Amino acid sequence: MNDSNRPLAGLEEWEDFLKDRYPEPEATAKPFQATDPAKKKEQFRNYEADARPSVREFYRLNHRHQTYDFVESKRREFLPLARKQMGIWEALEFLNTLVDDSDPDTDLSQLDHLLQTAEQIRHDGHPRWFVLAGLIHDLGKILCLYGEPQWAVVGDTFPVGCEWSEKIVFHQFFNDNPDKNESRYQTRLGVYEEGRGLDSVKMSWGHDEYLYHVTKDYLPPEALYMIRYHSFYPAHRDGEYNYLMNDKDREMFHWVRAFNPYDLYTKSHQKPNLKELRPFYDELIKEYFPATLRW
Ligand code: FE
Ligand code: FE
Repeated sequence: MNDSNRPLAGLEEWEDFLKDRYPEPEATAKPFQATDPAKKKEQFRNYEADARPSVREFYRLNHRHQTYDFVESKRREFLPLARKQMGIWEALEFLNTLVDDSDPDTDLSQLDHLLQTAEQIRHDGHPRWFVLAGLIHDLGKILCLYGEPQWAVVGDTFPVGCEWSEKIVFHQFFNDNPDKNESRYQTRLGVYEEGRGLDSVKMSWGHDEYLYHVTKDYLPPEALYMIRYHSFYPAHRDGEYNYLMNDKDREMFHWVRAFNPYDLYTKSHQKPNLKELRPFYDELIKEYFPATLRW
């Protein structure tokens, strides 16, 4: 059985829940993934009530513990990037050692997910940096291998230090977050200024923000936005927190939105052929990254 910090059998349980909550919009659905007409009704179902108990418990812990102080302490702990030195491919292999009590629905590894995401982006003819963002976007999940609890690695992200959007899933669990009693964190703007930009906003801590800091000197801003905000569902899917954004954020969020379907809807049972793909990705990694990076 899992200990209390690992309610999920695998990180995929959270992602499967996201897919239920944010079904693929009909207009962009690919022909080969045509949605079952009977499924339409499900959009009105109560996904919170229907969530697996493990997923519910995961969100309870996430919303309870992701406080402003917690985020600051994790930033102090990890952002000096003094844990490890390794190259991108080495990090991919390291992440792939993360084995959960596996999800019954899938036998895909973390690396399979990343390759499937990247391959679909490549297939659709997007720029090389977009493909690369697909390949690496979840590398921050190595936080799990440092022993971090699931709720501090994955989960829909949200700003800390200001009021929580009503659109954030399982909003009621914020009632147990100590920041609830800090009046300075409970106003619309909280500790921030209107329209100042997301770069000045502290997000709940997880794999997105961590990887952004590892890669920020090497990738174009569009790719960095995809990496940093791909779990910021309240903003990129629900349109919340617009008032914290500046014009650059709004422009860049087009790319975050362009990336999201690849992350959420490209899982297939077809295992990518690693041997065949490796040369292309080695080349791509070399184009943007040095041989080793600080993690
Ligand atoms: Fe992710
Ligand atoms: Fe992902």
